[in-house]
Amino acid sequence: MYVSKVEVFKARIKLRRPFRIALGEHTVVEDYIVRIETKDGLVGYGEASPSKAILGDDLTSALETLKLLAKRLIGIDPTGYERWRDLLRGKDLSSSARAALDIALSDLIAKHYGVPLYKLLGDAKTKIETDYTIGIKSPEEASKEAAELARKGFRIIKVKLGEGKEADIQRVRSVREAVGPKVRIRVDANQGWDFETAREIIREIAKYDIELVEQPLKHYDLKGLAKLKRLSPIPIMLDESVHTAEDAIYAIRMDAADVINIKLMKSGGLWEAVRIAHVAEAADIPCMVGCMSEAEVGIIAGIHFACGLSNVVFADLDADLMMTEHVVSANTLDVPYRVPPSEPGLGFNEDQVNYDILEKVLEVK
Ligand SMILES: [Mg+2]
Repeated sequence: MYVSKVEVFKARIKLRRPFRIALGEHTVVEDYIVRIETKDGLVGYGEASPSKAILGDDLTSALETLKLLAKRLIGIDPTGYERWRDLLRGKDLSSSARAALDIALSDLIAKHYGVPLYKLLGDAKTKIETDYTIGIKSPEEASKEAAELARKGFRIIKVKLGEGKEADIQRVRSVREAVGPKVRIRVDANQGWDFETAREIIREIAKYDIELVEQPLKHYDLKGLAKLKRLSPIPIMLDESVHTAEDAIYAIRMDAADVINIKLMKSGGLWEAVRIAHVAEAADIPCMVGCMSEAEVGIIAGIHFACGLSNVVFADLDADLMMTEHVVSANTLDVPYRVPPSEPGLGFNEDQVNYDILEKVLEVK
């Protein structure tokens, strides 16, 4: 099996409602779907969801990376991960673009062997419970949305914070009052607090039975995060601080993390994500699989990753659920669980891809 063609399609999908976090707001998702074809007719898919604020890339730089790397992949055999992984590395490359290619090649490996991707990755479980994220909004709107989600069957809600002490505490209180004691609540400040604010907010919201506090401080402030972890009654999860296995080792050495949030877009794909999960496991640190603004291709890859590895015990795989259109029609939601398709690879075929909403922007062969 060798790669004969790489195509890139641009997707532009409206969100059902505007999504605001401490780093910015968006109403539309724009990203890339990658399609890799092999000489013997297998097709693999990947997705790149760039983010200036978190990944340092954007649509332009991601496409440049895709162009450069697509050329390197023509003629390679996807089944030898250890032989192609270095081809996807290089200075200043977009990590979402690298992730898209890594996911598509991994889809091909699993299709070649005729197994669903999660079995290839370790076959730890067959489903994972996801949370559903509520963006930054007024306490009234947040509690209304939380009650609606709980009615739909979601049992874990992630509340975005990071816009000021009083408003943050009030949002958490309103959401807890709206959903009652049984729903699990996690919060994510997206680096929006300084140390003192974080300490005070955490002390206050601990009353509302909060499961995790995600990225309370700036991504580079590992010292502050370590100090906060020692003081905090709520476990601290790192997201923006950890992109790679090397970052995970640093965070572990600094004793700055109770939990690590792995995202395929940050790690540059599945195989680096596996390394992070393993490094964390060796340090007794459980992981979450999260997502950027991926549509179904990236989310399905995240589901396979979570189900492949026993150390991925939390999931925040909800971005596709917030979109008005679907790149892939595949049933992967059994509220509150995400379930990987059972067909080989990522588990969907060409007919399930909605090319009507995709615009081809690159072809390399
Ligand atoms: Mg986060």
